[in-house]
Amino acid sequence: MTTMKIAVLPGDGIGTEIMAEAVKVLKALELPLELETAPVGGAAYEAAGHPLPESTLKLAQAADAVLFGAVGDWKYDKLERALRPEQAILGLRKHLGLFANFRPAICYPQLTHASSLKPELVAGLDILIIRELTGDIYFGQPRGRRTAVDGHFPGSEEAFDTMRYSRPEIERIAHVAFQAARKRNNKVTSVDKANVLETFQFWKDVVTEVHAQYPDVELEHMYVDNAAMQLVKAPKKFDVVVTGNMFGDILSDEAAMLTGSIGMLPSASLDKNNKGLYEPSHGSAPDIAGQGIANPLATILSAAMMLKFSLNQPEAAARIETAVQSVLAQGLRTADIWSEGTTKVGTREMGDAVLAALNGAQSGMTTKTIKG
Ligand code: NAD
Repeated sequence: MTTMKIAVLPGDGIGTEIMAEAVKVLKALELPLELETAPVGGAAYEAAGHPLPESTLKLAQAADAVLFGAVGDWKYDKLERALRPEQAILGLRKHLGLFANFRPAICYPQLTHASSLKPELVAGLDILIIRELTGDIYFGQPRGRRTAVDGHFPGSEEAFDTMRYSRPEIERIAHVAFQAARKRNNKVTSVDKANVLETFQFWKDVVTEVHAQYPDVELEHMYVDNAAMQLVKAPKKFDVVVTGNMFGDILSDEAAMLTGSIGMLPSASLDKNNKGLYEPSHGSAPDIAGQGIANPLATILSAAMMLKFSLNQPEAAARIETAVQSVLAQGLRTADIWSEGTTKVGTREMGDAVLAALNGAQSGMTTKTIKG
């Protein structure tokens, strides 16, 4: 097997803590992985004066996949926008051509109580939201704000953004969705607003055309308002949901909350060759950074996604996912998912437990309940 190169970008805040655990798990897999670490975000700004230094970008470009922790800290809020830590993510997306954002929403049976929905609605939930990342109203032209020309109507200021999608943009995300569905339950829900917006009538037409190449996959179309409703009414009816940049932004957060905890949710952003950047859905959590209490499971599960989607190692990915389920079944919980009757552990203990489960052993931890 040829060596697979992974660029490891821990970033800021809890990024370094959670990444250490994911790296530990990856190293235990005994795969030919070459892991190289580089600074990104605030850490890179401190070290090199830029959130995405040339050397970090080169490493990411040369790698087979990028594993990303989190970036940001309130102390950088006063910096000019181009130098803020979060610019590193936008830069990586742009330079790596990442256009498909995968956000799975999985509700582990042990964590059903953490959802705001009734347990029976979310138990066993396993859906995948695929958000297009490069088009839509976020990038339309022209964008701007204008004032009434005659100046007589001070209340008539207006602002506008233009919604646009091109055929190739819709085609490539539709292919990604149908191919992902083939690896799951063969169903795609394409979410649009075709009843009102021309852009999304076009979206619907192009998705329908691409579907002709995937007769084995079921396709349904759904308006975004109905999709928002169905996600909280009967979320398990979905398998793969594909949608545009703005609807995807909103629906993926809605779906994430069905599962109860942001500390559990991985994500992937892929290019046309399935090379990707993998990161937890959460940020750098400056409020708990340095305390050793962050949940590393979203990052560990992001590493599993990386093995599955970019490195073609589905068995290794499944090993990690099974190990995570096993530690949850053992009752081990970091503070964000802790509840009465379970055992509270820190970041490192959680990583150690996943490692132990990976090797087929239970962690030797007691199941004493710590309140708080
Ligand atoms: P956040 O996701 O960092 O934190 C929100 C809340 O969730 C906090 O209370 C935090 O303690 C908690 N939390 C997050 N991850 C957790 C984990 N793994 N375990 C336990 N608890 C966890 O969002 P925020 O507070 O709005 O933003 C903080 C910084 O992160 C900002 O600078 C923001 O710009 C940045 N950010 C970065 C990314 C990214 O790197 N992709 C994403 C979102 C926010």
